Amino acid sequence: MTTTLFIPTDDLCLSFVNTRSWRGTAAPVDELGGISDVLVWAGQANAALAGGMQAWFAAHPREATSAFSAAIALREVLFTLFADTAEGKLAALSFLNAALDRAGPRLHLARQDADIGWRIENGPPCAERLLAPVLWSAADLLAGPRRGLVRKCANPQCGWLFIDDSKSGNRRWCSMSACGNRAKAQRHYMKRRKADA
Ligand SMILES: [Zn+2]
Repeated sequence: MTTTLFIPTDDLCLSFVNTRSWRGTAAPVDELGGISDVLVWAGQANAALAGGMQAWFAAHPREATSAFSAAIALREVLFTLFADTAEGKLAALSFLNAALDRAGPRLHLARQDADIGWRIENGPPCAERLLAPVLWSAADLLAGPRRGLVRKCANPQCGWLFIDDSKSGNRRWCSMSACGNRAKAQRHYMKRRKADA
């Protein structure tokens, strides 16, 4: 059995949701345009897991297309789920639970050099397995004490979600500098122009 060590990163689920920017505008910016983008993104969290699927998806274009659709559908479900959470609503869990089933289990902990991570079993490539660390992050955030700290940026055009880890507990913006500040607006503008080109 081939296994992979996965070392969790904080709130990967929100980082994944935020691969789509400016949700509140007529021209949202999406970092993910195909399965190759999802593989690169997922590779940042777990290079071994994503790298193992890369060649398989390259050789199976039809499955790659449906895996990309499934990845985006998952992201949008997570967005709704955490946007609801930010508003104090209890979200429906059935879609996430079905995805967790398909993602496969976290088996047990293992050491790798100075690190400790989850040993996970590699299985048939699919969106849920590729994004398993995102799904576990979502489940851990929902079932943990920080669920009440999920916020949606106060800029209605932004749409990014974040954890309010401020001492005062009243952080409103996705970034410490106001979301609407000129530098950031310019950066997103340039990114959007690049995406549209
Ligand atoms: Zn924002």
